Amino acid sequence: MIPLSRPAFLGTELEYVGGILQAGTLSGLGPYTRRCEQWLEQFMDSGKAFLTTSGTAALEMAAMLADIQAGDEVIVPSYTYVSTVNAFVVRGAAPVFVDIEHDTMNMDATKVEAAITPKTRAIVPVHYAGIACDMDVIMAVANRNNLLVIEDAAQAPTSTYKGRALGTIGHIGCMSFHETKNFTSGGQGGAVLVNRDALVDRAEVIHDNGTNRARFLRGQVDQYAWQDIGSNFVVSEVLAAILWSHLEAADEISQKRHQLWSEYQQRLEPLAAAGYIVLPYIPLGSVHNAHIYYIKVRDPHQRKALIRHMKAQGITTAPHYLPLHSTEIGSSKGRFAGSDINTTLASTQLLRLPLYHSLSVQEQDKVVATISSFWG
Ligand SMILES: *Cc1c(COP(=O)(O)O)cnc(C)c1O
Repeated sequence: MIPLSRPAFLGTELEYVGGILQAGTLSGLGPYTRRCEQWLEQFMDSGKAFLTTSGTAALEMAAMLADIQAGDEVIVPSYTYVSTVNAFVVRGAAPVFVDIEHDTMNMDATKVEAAITPKTRAIVPVHYAGIACDMDVIMAVANRNNLLVIEDAAQAPTSTYKGRALGTIGHIGCMSFHETKNFTSGGQGGAVLVNRDALVDRAEVIHDNGTNRARFLRGQVDQYAWQDIGSNFVVSEVLAAILWSHLEAADEISQKRHQLWSEYQQRLEPLAAAGYIVLPYIPLGSVHNAHIYYIKVRDPHQRKALIRHMKAQGITTAPHYLPLHSTEIGSSKGRFAGSDINTTLASTQLLRLPLYHSLSVQEQDKVVATISSFWG
């Protein structure tokens, strides 16, 4: 079977992990964590990066840092992973879903302002497939209404919007280094990018169980103590070492993924021109990271048949999210603002194709040929 995704394996992982196991300082905030954080900070204008145990944990830490309280509202797309919303719901906030754009699958920035109420605290754009939301519009709406912007850039490391890295534009950005993402810290991992200097001190405390242990480790206090809410978001050095082997090879990994992405885009164009499928759209000013390649078919019945056709040839393809507002918990915890014109429709049309670092030319040839043969 050709899988949908496979984590990159560079070969340096074992050496780095071996070194850390021998050194015996495993519990985090060590040299590999610092190296990974500095790699992230090279894209940031200000603030600080914190590695976290997952992208979900990054979102939870962001919600704590944003001081989200019971009764608050956050504006989110419904076409996203559960944790984009759960991170705020666990703090007692209500998600207010806005529609996505059909062509990018991203939150429609022009629908955000109408969803604001006196309870709104934050806007949480999700850069689906590593393709940028319209951040100029979102930041302008946030600034006009005094709201925080927390970017779910889980899928977007190395992507940019008008030259600025995704995850570094909002007040806070969240990334994931899960096994399925472009770079992984051994299966689970993430990062919070705190993009405003004024938020950094508190973020450092929340990141380490609500204590000032980081100041203690720097010799700034004699003893560390409980200061604030927080949790253990600190990543094991063993996992940070694996992440470093991916981040230092980020250019190589990205180049390979882009090659595969562009190959799909070129070779599936005839099917798009014939009206059978719709290809991804990259808005002007957005440079993506080739995280996901997807096509859109006309309807869910056709998608089901295509998935079966691909599977019969040993190729895994998959839809993505069930819109969160259409679940029982989604409709009881939150509400949809405005009408759902694109979210549900596009969610039934989208189909992801295999895309990963070690996907071979022959395997990709087979994927393209098998899709083409479905339409005869
Ligand atoms: C992967 C992902 C997450 C969660 O990240 P984990 O590391 O799996 O916890 C959140 N939001 C989006 C959009 C994601 O793709």
